[in-house]
Formats: sequence, C-alpha cells, structure tokens
Amino acid sequence: MRIGAHVDPTDPLDAAATREAETVQFFLADPQGWKAPEPRTDADRLRAADIDVYVHAPYVVNVATLNNRIRIPSRKLLLSHATAAATVGAKGLIVHGGHVSKGDDIAVGFDNWRKTFAYAAEQGGFATPVLIENTAGGDYACARRLDALARLWDAVGEYDVGFCLDTCHAHAGGEDLLDIVDRIKAITGRIDLIHANDSKDGFGSGRDRHDNFGHGMIDPELLVAVVRAADAPVVVETPGGAAGQTADIAFLRDRVGG
Ligand SMILES: [Zn+2]
Repeated sequence: MRIGAHVDPTDPLDAAATREAETVQFFLADPQGWKAPEPRTDADRLRAADIDVYVHAPYVVNVATLNNRIRIPSRKLLLSHATAAATVGAKGLIVHGGHVSKGDDIAVGFDNWRKTFAYAAEQGGFATPVLIENTAGGDYACARRLDALARLWDAVGEYDVGFCLDTCHAHAGGEDLLDIVDRIKAITGRIDLIHANDSKDGFGSGRDRHDNFGHGMIDPELLVAVVRAADAPVVVETPGGAAGQTADIAFLRDRVGG
C-alpha cells in the first residue's frame, strides 16, 4: 500500500523524501484562486520519480452550482488542471463534490456534474483521471452524504469517474466509518484514493478541520480499518508539518504494511 502526504508545492519530491512518502499530493495553483496552473520546472523529475503524484484542484471549483459565473469558470479550471496534472504524471486530480445554494434544486447540481464530463469529453476528455472527493459540510452538497453520492453517480456513472474518500469529511459529514468502504463501493464501484485524516470535530458536525491520528475524534484503529478495507493509495492531509505527517505515515505503515 502506497502512503504519503499532501505537501507544499514548492518542492514536492523533497517533501516526500523528508516524510518517507510513497505518494504525494499538492496544488498546481492557488487553492483559493481562479488562475490556471503555470508550467512546473520539475515536471520531468516528478514524472520520472518513483512517487505516486496526485494533484488537488482549487477549493473554488464548484461545477455543481446553478450560478453560471462560478460553474463555467469551474469547468474550465478543472479541465486546465487535468491538462497540467498530466505534465507532472499525476495519477489523479482530486476535486470536491461541490454543492448548490439554498433553495436550488440539487437534481440540477447532479446534472451539472454530468455536463462537466460531457463538456470535457467534447474537448478530448480530462487528461488526468478526475477523482471526486466527499465533503464535510453543507445541506446542499453533492458528495457529503451517501444518498446524495448515489444520485451523483447516477448522473456521472456513464463516464470513467474516480472517487476519493476523506475519512475526516465522512466522520464530520455524518457518515459512519464502519463499513463505509463497502457502502461507497456499492455506489461507485471503486475507491481510487484515501485521504486519511483524523477530525478535530465530532460526528456530523459538518466542520472540516483535520487532525493528526489519535489527536482528534476518530478512533485510530477505525482509520486503520478503513485504509485496510479500501486497499487504495493513501494521502494524509494532517497538520504538524513534516514531523506530524511523518508520524501519521509511519503509524499507518506499521499497521497496514507497505
Ligand atoms: Zn481531503
């Protein structure tokens, strides 16, 4: 099992070496901004490295929204990130499930997801596999609760869409981690990546604050059980810098092997 961390984009390979990581995830552009990614000078090294690279799309991306002024640029930004992610050899582009606004019909949000993949297909398809990630909060989210996720997959299932399970988001979002891998696979048929994170907040809190294993509200052995059951590559998105993440990676590696 390949285990690593979300790191600063300055020098991901150096950050991976420091953490003894086998996977690495980073942003290609400002996560709070709308700028398309710039070419990276280390693209060749990233592509050649024996490290599995993942790219996280900016948080501003919301392809589900009924607001044209967010949705249309979101589609374009997602497509440009998929293209740029391929230049660094990324195995996946992770993007949050998104949401509609209060009072809007969430069915339109799911259909907007379908249109996002249809739009990309017209442009030749996403150059990097897109992995939709479950989210922690909001009452109108497309991928917080599994009942919504099932409707999302009804909409996008005809495309080759991947899934990223974040353990903090599931816990804070109000989905029991026990058996969650089976319940998700019954919907998506796959889990491509695990974001293994403890949660500072309680079950169903809707808050998205990651913590180091054993420091938050999730039983560490339950985290291990989820990682083991999913049998997918792992990225920890935990605080504490290199020391905190190195400890979390070692904790998982000790228990699940690899
Ligand atoms: Zn995550």
